[in-house]
Amino acid sequence: MVWIGEGHPHETIAVPGVALADGDVLVAVEMSTICGSDVHTVQGRRHAPTPLVLGHERGPGDRHGRCGGDDGRRYLPAHRRPGGVVGDGVVCALRPLHAGNAAEVPHAGQVRHDRVGAHGDLTGAFASHVQLREGTAIVRVPEALPASVLAPASCATATAWAAVARAARDRDLDGAAVRVHGAGLVGLSAAAIAAEQGATVEVLDPNVDRRAFAGLFGATALDRDPDVVIEASGHAVRQALDGVAVGGTVVLVGSVFPAEPVPLDAESIVRRLVTVAGIHNYTGTDLAEAVAFLAGRGRAYPFGDAVGAVRSLLDVDAALVEAAAPGAPLRVGLVPGH
Ligand SMILES: [Zn+2]
Repeated sequence: MVWIGEGHPHETIAVPGVALADGDVLVAVEMSTICGSDVHTVQGRRHAPTPLVLGHERGPGDRHGRCGGDDGRRYLPAHRRPGGVVGDGVVCALRPLHAGNAAEVPHAGQVRHDRVGAHGDLTGAFASHVQLREGTAIVRVPEALPASVLAPASCATATAWAAVARAARDRDLDGAAVRVHGAGLVGLSAAAIAAEQGATVEVLDPNVDRRAFAGLFGATALDRDPDVVIEASGHAVRQALDGVAVGGTVVLVGSVFPAEPVPLDAESIVRRLVTVAGIHNYTGTDLAEAVAFLAGRGRAYPFGDAVGAVRSLLDVDAALVEAAAPGAPLRVGLVPGH
C-alpha cells in the first residue's frame, strides 16, 4: 500500500518480481501495527519522501531467502543452521542497523523510510512482503507468541528496552525508584522491563484509562523521588528534569516529534548531579533482548491487549484515521490478505 502524500488515499501496487541480493531476506508480513510516527507522517507533521510504503512495526512474518548476521541466532533450535531457514517466524528492523552505537546511523531501523523505487519497492511494513537488506536486524521468534505481541517489538518494545538499558548503565535498577512519563506503548513497555529488573515503577499520564492500564504493566506509586526518570511522552521533559532525585538519571526517549524547546536550568542540573541521556532507536542486540523479554518474563504482562483493533491492510486509510482519533487503542493492527 503506497502512500503518495497528505490528503491522498493509499494506492495498491503490485510488485511482480523481487531480486534478492546476497544476504537479502524477503519476509511475508503476518501483521504490522500503526505507530504514532506513521500517523504523524500521513498528517503531514513529519517530512517523508513519497511515494512511500509506511509501517515499521511488523512481525512475525515468514522469512524467505538467505540471511546472514542474524541477531536472533541464539534462539534458533540446534537443528537449524545459524543463519535461519526459510519459514522461520521473525521480527525485524526496517533498515540495516550497524553494530555499536545506533546514533552513528541517524534514524536507522525505524522511522526514516526510503521512497518507493530508491532501493526496491518493498521497504515498508504496510505491505504483504518486505525486502530486508543485508545487515538488517532480524530476530527469530517463538511460534507461540501472538502477532499482536510481536509486531510492536521492532519499534516500541526495542526502544523501551534501549531506554531502560541506558538507565541501567548508571545504576542497578534492583531496588531503584523509576518514574515513567507517558503511558503509550514505549512507556508501558519500559515500566514492565524496569519492574522485572527489580525497580519500583510509577507511570504518569494525563489519560486516566491509560494510567489504569499501566497498573497491569507493573506500575505502582513511588514514595520517594525517582532515581531514574524515563520521559516517553515527549510532553514532560521539564517535569522529568525537575523531578529526578539528586544524582539521578533522566532518559529522554519520547521527544521524537517537533516540539517547543524546553528551557534547561543548567545550575540545577549541575548542583543535583543529574545525568541526562537521549535514546533514539535501538541496536540489534536491543531488539533480540526485547523479543527474549516478550517471550519470557514479559508474558506476565498484557502486551497483546495493546493492539485494540485489527484491520485489513486494504483499509489502511481508515485504520490510520482510527489510530489518530481521541481514545484510540494503543495500536491498530494491519493484516494483509483479507
Ligand atoms: Zn514507531
